[in-house]
Amino acid sequence: MNPNAKPVLVVGGGIAGLTAAVEAAEAGCQVVLVEKAPSLGGRVSQLNQYFPKLCPPACGLEINYQRLKNNPGISVLTLAEVESIGGSPGDFEVTVKLAPRHVTEACTACGACAEVCPATRPDEFNLGLAQTKAAYLPHRMAFPALYVIDRAACSKDCHACADACNYGAVKLDQAVERRSFRVAAVVAATGWKPYDAARIENLGFGKYPNVVTNSIVERLAASDGPTGGKILRPSDGQPPQSVIFVQCAGSRDENHLPYCSAVCCAASLKQSTYVRAQCPEAQISIFYIDIRTPGRLEDFYLTAAAQAKVELVKGKAAKIEEDTASRDLLVSAEDALSGKRAARRAGLVVLATGIVPQTEGLPPGFTLDEFRFLSPPNGKTGLYAAGCARRPGEVSATVQDATGAALKALQCVARSATHE
Ligand SMILES: Cc1cc2nc3c(=O)[nH]c(=O)nc-3n(C[C@H](O)[C@H](O)[C@H](O)COP(=O)(O)OP(=O)(O)OC[C@H]3O[C@@H](n4cnc5c(N)ncnc54)[C@H](O)[C@@H]3O)c2cc1C
Repeated sequence: MNPNAKPVLVVGGGIAGLTAAVEAAEAGCQVVLVEKAPSLGGRVSQLNQYFPKLCPPACGLEINYQRLKNNPGISVLTLAEVESIGGSPGDFEVTVKLAPRHVTEACTACGACAEVCPATRPDEFNLGLAQTKAAYLPHRMAFPALYVIDRAACSKDCHACADACNYGAVKLDQAVERRSFRVAAVVAATGWKPYDAARIENLGFGKYPNVVTNSIVERLAASDGPTGGKILRPSDGQPPQSVIFVQCAGSRDENHLPYCSAVCCAASLKQSTYVRAQCPEAQISIFYIDIRTPGRLEDFYLTAAAQAKVELVKGKAAKIEEDTASRDLLVSAEDALSGKRAARRAGLVVLATGIVPQTEGLPPGFTLDEFRFLSPPNGKTGLYAAGCARRPGEVSATVQDATGAALKALQCVARSATHE
């Protein structure tokens, strides 16, 4: 790479942003990676296992963290958001705002600060299903492995964490910081968030405790989740004897998300294997409109659907009601194959809620489509999009997409360097 070349800015440190950053850096380009959370990995780090191989997410993420650590061309800024972008392709001026972590790189993640911390806060990594101390490690596999002090959750005069730290790593007086730099191109990889299931009123989320979402099931099944890896009914903490998955909970629905979220069918089939492993006797029913598992996911679908006590019901769930005595759920639909009413009872219902792009807060210049996904990478704008912020997809598709966006960004870097 030309020594005059300016860096690429990557916004979002999920699997798409990580991929774009390491691919661009391994081609010889400088990269600044900006992540608003305290650690990298995005939503993938919250999964229990990946389909189709059913390996833990640490597998794929750890490889990328190694590539990142071994590459001095990548600067990682966490708790950081882009405040403004000015200039033009090949020469953007960017300002990034960094929220204080109140913990420096001297942190060894020993946990002494959390041990003495008297305050608690909702654990966002576990979707609010648990609490952390105000001095917390974002999660077990957090990269960077640095604690954070949430000052908003602390009592004003407490400095127990600073007193307990043997490394002088706690800095309670850290303030917001701003950094400005010039970059040649920007890759936005800001990802997705789950659709708010409470908005689908006929499906009872937020009303009936044993109606949960697919994102919640990932955390319940994970060994570092709120139940230590056990899928339990929220109402009584018991393993469910039967589970119903409701597909297209919001997706492919004009009243909610008119598009297909692409991953929910494979995610529910994967989660049926979690239930099967933990509750071998449980009956599992999957209510679906169509099963969408294209390409290499077809084999995964056939294998998961062939498990004992797994039934697929072709019908969009119309209503969920609760039996108030047992807190079981009654799910009804019209069976599209027989034309008759299909009704099932279950101890736990999982809504396969869809993917909503997380594109708010991006600086002007990025264009959005009618569903607020970022528009595809475009010729010479210098502003490119990758991953689920651009379209819903599984990890392998996201990685390919991010590699493509890195290439477009590199072309912009090369064009601008030859003009210097
Ligand atoms: C229930 C469920 C299960 C799934 N299971 C699988 C599976 O088993 N296998 C599989 O292949 N795929 C699975 N997926 C899909 C997988 O989650 C996505 O492919 C993946 O998360 C996409 O990564 P991403 O980097 O595009 O987005 P994200 O994972 O959302 O990462 C985006 C990152 O950008 C950061 N960010 C957001 N806004 C800003 C901003 N303004 N500034 C800075 N940073 C920002 C976020 O904090 C986050 O770290 C599943 C999806 C669901 C819904």
